[in-house]
Amino acid sequence: MTSTGSSFAAPPFQGIATFGRRPQTRELVEIDVAILGVPFDSTVSYRSGTRLGPRAIREQSLLLWGFNNVLSVAPFERLKVIDYGDVDVVPVDVIATHQAIESTAKTILQQGTKLITLGGEHSISLPLLRAHAAVHGPLAVVHFDAHPDTWDEEYPGCKFSHGTPFRRAIEEGLIDTTAYFQIGIRGPTAGPQDYEDAKQLGAQMLTIDEVHSRGVASILDDVRLCVGSKPTYVTLDIDAVDPAFAPGTGTPEVGGLTSHQMLQLVRGLRGLNLIGFDLVEVSPPYDPSEITAILASNLVFEFLSLLALRELM
Ligand code: MN
Ligand code: MN
Repeated sequence: MTSTGSSFAAPPFQGIATFGRRPQTRELVEIDVAILGVPFDSTVSYRSGTRLGPRAIREQSLLLWGFNNVLSVAPFERLKVIDYGDVDVVPVDVIATHQAIESTAKTILQQGTKLITLGGEHSISLPLLRAHAAVHGPLAVVHFDAHPDTWDEEYPGCKFSHGTPFRRAIEEGLIDTTAYFQIGIRGPTAGPQDYEDAKQLGAQMLTIDEVHSRGVASILDDVRLCVGSKPTYVTLDIDAVDPAFAPGTGTPEVGGLTSHQMLQLVRGLRGLNLIGFDLVEVSPPYDPSEITAILASNLVFEFLSLLALRELM
């Protein structure tokens, strides 16, 4: 097997699990996409475990066969993809970890390489948005989640946690709030203010009830119409998906997307000016039969397919 061969070149149970069997390297010359892990879960509000997410997603990525039949593209043939390995996290220090994430992301983006990041919990999106906005300016954002993540503080005096990254990002001017979508929002909250706050900050909230009643295609029409050709960052919290399909997460909420709806929503972003992706909140200790990690690895494959289609445009 060569380092650039198909993930199908060896059986899925054989060998060391880099993402999709891509070469593990930090050499970025002429590399289209880097896969980066952030094994960090120190700021979660309920149950932990997402520090083990990148490893689990990589392991299940060995099941990827290489050709995307729906989008009709073979991303690993079209793109030079590497597995960059993991950010050096500091479990007891969210600020230091965020600095390490931002610095690593900037190193990758400065080479013209696109970045797909595997979490880890959702606080990591803040430094990733900083790094991408430093290149592109304020970003359109498509944010799949059960939760708005726009709290001011989850713990008194603590501005950085997995419930606050998008408020911080808006405060820092990283998000173009005329083109910020939250999709799949649901669940009980402490009060009506949680949703109101998100909307006042500029989020266009498409709740799970709207997704189920209007359908995926109609939701995507809204996104496309608004986002247009703006540089667009996609952040996918796996808890957007129903816990029946994605139980391995820290803050599950019932009544979510099916796996298929989630795949359709991601595929429906084809043609947008997509500049970066993260997939967060996969928690292997709560993931019987690894079904959440399998879904996550397939969603990353869809991200790669979208980038491969951009190369063809
Ligand atoms: Mn969430
Ligand atoms: Mn989230």
